[in-house]
Amino acid sequence: MSKVLIIGAGGVGSVVAQKCASVPEVFSEILLASRTKSKCDAIAQRVGGNRIKTAQVDADNVPELVTLINSFKPELVINVALPYQDLTIMDACLETNVSYLDTANYEPKDKAHFEYSWQWAYQDRFKAKGLTAILGCGFDPGVTSIYTAYAAKHHFDEMQYLDIVDCNAGDHGKAFATNFNPEINIREVTQKGKYWENGKWVETNPHEIKLALNYPNIGPKNSYVIYHEELESLVKNYPTLKRARFWMTFGDEYLTHLRVIQNIGMASIEPIMYKGVEIVPLQFLKETLPNPGDLGENYTGETSIGCRIRGNKDGKEKTYYVWNNCKHQDAYNETGMQGVSYTTGVPAMLGALMFLTGKWKKPGVFNVEEFNPDPFMELIGKYGLPWEEEINGNLEL
Ligand code: NDP
Repeated sequence: MSKVLIIGAGGVGSVVAQKCASVPEVFSEILLASRTKSKCDAIAQRVGGNRIKTAQVDADNVPELVTLINSFKPELVINVALPYQDLTIMDACLETNVSYLDTANYEPKDKAHFEYSWQWAYQDRFKAKGLTAILGCGFDPGVTSIYTAYAAKHHFDEMQYLDIVDCNAGDHGKAFATNFNPEINIREVTQKGKYWENGKWVETNPHEIKLALNYPNIGPKNSYVIYHEELESLVKNYPTLKRARFWMTFGDEYLTHLRVIQNIGMASIEPIMYKGVEIVPLQFLKETLPNPGDLGENYTGETSIGCRIRGNKDGKEKTYYVWNNCKHQDAYNETGMQGVSYTTGVPAMLGALMFLTGKWKKPGVFNVEEFNPDPFMELIGKYGLPWEEEINGNLEL
């Protein structure tokens, strides 16, 4: 029986709150707090039964967070606000002696750059206080890293080549929309590509490397090498990897819109003056784009995300592919949210459950592959994201 504080009431926060509420034997009390309280109230109302309490909080403000945490006294804070708030929430957790979990690594607001160094720097402080910080427990990062840990534990003596493949073969019926926070999403996909090879990072131009990969139940989709945050911790935790890449599918329409957005300056995070007011073009653009949380109703198709790994087992070469497919309509029917929010929110809830039931509890700051993958892999299907595997198939890569 445990109390959790969930911060952030967007698409992901909605799924996390609903999923936690459905496991009362673990999550006995839930407080959902965000910048806009009415969004928390709407989620609490959907769940019903007075299961979820709500509060307003500015998660950029450490003293405000400390007051809220002290008033509720949770065992764990689940951070599903934006990556900008990671450090303030970790600071507040340290000050109040509460453990921490998130789904995306820290990113400063004024620089489109993300890396784990800022959060890894909290290692000694979390360890000294006997608190756990679980980093990156969504789908990617999150399940993809747990799949990799599971493969390393059960399928390989040595993993050499890792390709994480992320396909969204969904159609939301809009000319252009992003599947999670537009500001964060556009910052991520417009940056240069980067992958790990022979002990160093190789940089590419955005979307320079392209291949049509086949996805189960979907077929071929154009896939592009982009840089994704879990690569940073995976190459550190699995030093035998000779190459590690991340592939994401993009439709031609999406890429055309993205090119125009960049060419006309709307992806910029440099503030400009507009009628005497300072605005950030990308933040303004976010306000004009569809809210990712509202895409679910007409969203058809499915996502397919997994890991394709090559290495050695018992002196022989082996390949292993492990993946989940998630239908947007199934996610919507269950939670009112589309598949990308669902595939992020379910692992965040399960990571919290792993911590609260003592399976993932150790002092310090950890990426999810540093925990035992087995109890997570045993339960993730039951909570909505079943996985499949293929051994010694053609990885195409
Ligand atoms: P949304 O933009 O839909 O939701 C973000 C929520 O955080 C909103 O409710 C917002 O409040 C709230 N928020 C923002 N700033 C503050 C603040 N200063 N104080 C309090 N609350 C704040 O994003 P998503 O739900 O799509 O994404 C949530 C997180 O999940 C992001 O960090 C994203 O990067 C991550 N993610 C991870 C994935 C993975 O697989 N690992 C995949 C997809 C997303 P308001 O409503 O007022 O704006």
